[in-house]
Amino acid sequence: MKIRPPSVRARLTLWHAGVLTLIVCIFSAGILHFVDERLYAGLDTQLGRQIATIGRVYREEPDELTDLASHSGITLFQVAEGGSIRHQTDAWEREGLARALQTADSTSPLSWTAPSGRRYRVQKASGSSDSVAAAIEETSVRDTLWTLAVILAMGIPFAVGLAIAGGYFLAGRVLAPVGAMADKAREITADSLAERLPVDNADDEFGRLATVFNDTLSRLQDAFERLRRFTADASHELRTPLTAMRSVGEVALRDTLDAGAYRDVIGSMLEEVDRLTRLVESLLTLTRADSGRIQLAPKPLDLVALTGNVIDQLRVLADEKHQNLTIRAPAAVHAVGDAALVHHALMNLIHNAIKYTPDGGTISVELNAMNSGRAVIEVRDTGPGIPAAHRDRIFDRFYRIDAGRSREEGGIGLGLAIARWAIEANGGHLELASNGERGSVFRVLLPAADDPSAHDKS
Ligand code: ADP
Repeated sequence: MKIRPPSVRARLTLWHAGVLTLIVCIFSAGILHFVDERLYAGLDTQLGRQIATIGRVYREEPDELTDLASHSGITLFQVAEGGSIRHQTDAWEREGLARALQTADSTSPLSWTAPSGRRYRVQKASGSSDSVAAAIEETSVRDTLWTLAVILAMGIPFAVGLAIAGGYFLAGRVLAPVGAMADKAREITADSLAERLPVDNADDEFGRLATVFNDTLSRLQDAFERLRRFTADASHELRTPLTAMRSVGEVALRDTLDAGAYRDVIGSMLEEVDRLTRLVESLLTLTRADSGRIQLAPKPLDLVALTGNVIDQLRVLADEKHQNLTIRAPAAVHAVGDAALVHHALMNLIHNAIKYTPDGGTISVELNAMNSGRAVIEVRDTGPGIPAAHRDRIFDRFYRIDAGRSREEGGIGLGLAIARWAIEANGGHLELASNGERGSVFRVLLPAADDPSAHDKS
């Protein structure tokens, strides 16, 4: 089973301490190795010098060899010539150092432990006929190394302790903003979406995290706000026809009416029911659109035929108002999109044009194919137009320029919002092209059949 320290602080501390311990160990071992090499190198140089002195004395004044110990402090050596020993000191013989040469008859220095337990550095140098072997006790070198090793070994726990304490403290400081963010985030609820996480330094990692989280909160806040407004507007819209139906019904119940008057009451109630049905259908469409549950079926569209179909359905309304409803198109205009959604959008646009254009006005729908292959549909009317002040908002949900008049016309302020969503869901674009002076012009752009952006929207 893998044991994981529960907190990031503990994990950081352990990592910090672990890495530092490793560094201290490697460093200590390095120091020990370096000092060991230097001390032995010094010892070997000393040994080499002693051998040279012994050799020189042996060759120049062999009788002086006996006094070498008292003159130069060289007490451990042996001189041999032609295989027979010519001179060896008592200490050399006592410690049995000749055996060191038997175990490894090498000319490079070697360490050897005598039967007495003392350790010696021994080396043999052979001349043309003679050979000199000498030894130096290495106890002081080993003591020095041992002391150093003990000091370093005792320092390691201190270093580890310090690393743990320092790491814990540092990790605590570094992670403090996370704690502050968590505390704040815990306080934020749907009712306090205006609150934001504290940002100490927007450029460091935690600052960036807090900023990203704050941006998400802003988007959530906007979405909540829109939803709240939408619900309030929708309730208001639902209440209006219900109130109208209730008052018409109450009047009808209170007074005794003849059959014709009852028919009128029922007729007006049905009108309100119609309105409610349209409203609920629009709300359902928008809710499905928001949740992304509407499955698009994009396919090549014959826009002339599709627009002609919409116009045929609405012509009766235009005729009622003695309006001139025309369609102009080159031979064929094609696009790709979901037929039902494009139909719905065009229906809303042309219906609006009929609704808001006074009797006897003209509504013309013009289709064209752009050089890029995109299809353009323009719906023009000779109505009041859209004043500049409202241009940016008419596509908002429930937004109406003249609510009273729009309601009279049966409008609920969702037609343009739905039309824009329907066109954009198909990879197209819907805009108000007129400047509000004379009549309105709504322009729809739809992708060409081979435009890939048309297929990846949903
Ligand atoms: P509604 O259901 O009220 O028509 P829409 O979303 O379709 O809602 O339109 C929003 C508002 O834009 C309408 O209330 C109306 O004031 C204005 N509008 C839309 N189309 C036209 C048009 N062709 N001419 C003038 N005003 C328009």
